[in-house]
Amino acid sequence: MIETKNIAARRETKTLQVASSISKMKEIAESLRRQNLTIGFVPTMGCLHGGHLRLIKKSLEFCDRTVVSIFVNPTQFGRDEDLDSYPRQLEDDIEKLEATAADILFHPGAEEMYPQNYKTHVQVQDISEYLCGKNRDGFFIGVATVVLKLFNIVRPHRAFFGEKDWQQLAVIEAMVEDLNLDVAVVRVPLVREPDGLAMSSRNRYLSPQQRQTALSLSRSLREARDNIRRGTTSAKVISDAIQRCLLEKEGCEIDYIAICDPESFRAKEQIRGRTLIAIAAKVGVARLIDNCIVEENECSE
Ligand code: AMP
Repeated sequence: MIETKNIAARRETKTLQVASSISKMKEIAESLRRQNLTIGFVPTMGCLHGGHLRLIKKSLEFCDRTVVSIFVNPTQFGRDEDLDSYPRQLEDDIEKLEATAADILFHPGAEEMYPQNYKTHVQVQDISEYLCGKNRDGFFIGVATVVLKLFNIVRPHRAFFGEKDWQQLAVIEAMVEDLNLDVAVVRVPLVREPDGLAMSSRNRYLSPQQRQTALSLSRSLREARDNIRRGTTSAKVISDAIQRCLLEKEGCEIDYIAICDPESFRAKEQIRGRTLIAIAAKVGVARLIDNCIVEENECSE
């Protein structure tokens, strides 16, 4: 186990190993396992920011070696979504990874991950059908499939995922449990910019004006928490207030406002017990999500 205090020392001495093929990554994973080293894994689509770096830091704290994957997964993008324009900046990302002291970058090509005769997909039923699964056909099938493939290639002992993608985390946890996968899923809290905006690779699509509009997502959640603290328990009252806040500035197109159970994603009428408030909205071309967990008269993020 590597202790936190050793991370700075490791940063000075380590070089980042890059695996661009599945066979190379498997070879590295096999060698690490043979040496009894624990493998921490942080799957990403690149364009790394502070949210990703928090996950990597957690992995460095708890695992002997940290593998970060950068793969813009085509199967989780809908036909009219931003697969082609999704920001890609590998050189920059490599510099950031070197600065964090991550050990291995796995950066496979789409043709190798999904060759022409590719046939197999993983579907986590029920919880995939709510929120982000409702209007994004096949999104969670794409996510679960690529994560299972990555787990099989990287063979991590622990895998780190951000609570920014709350529902994605639940889908992955369900897959790990249902398929008896030998990996511990570690949740990492959502990381925000100083002004409250949830960090996201898609934030770079935002013009300065759109960024101001985008701030209404986190602001509406803060106001919701304040209202719940003051005693409001009606989900409709809270949802209407969130909607008003999101639509206050022009240019915000709401996909959903969900007030629901954080595990089953069933909608709640009354905010009793632990409740997830999740929002998805488009600002310009950027599809943004944000969420918080609230409890009656007590809130936590
Ligand atoms: P992505 O590259 O957007 O697919 O994200 C890769 C991982 O980073 C996922 O586990 C995300 O939940 C996590 N992540 C992205 N943004 C944040 C954030 N602002 N805070 C915490 N985790 C994040």
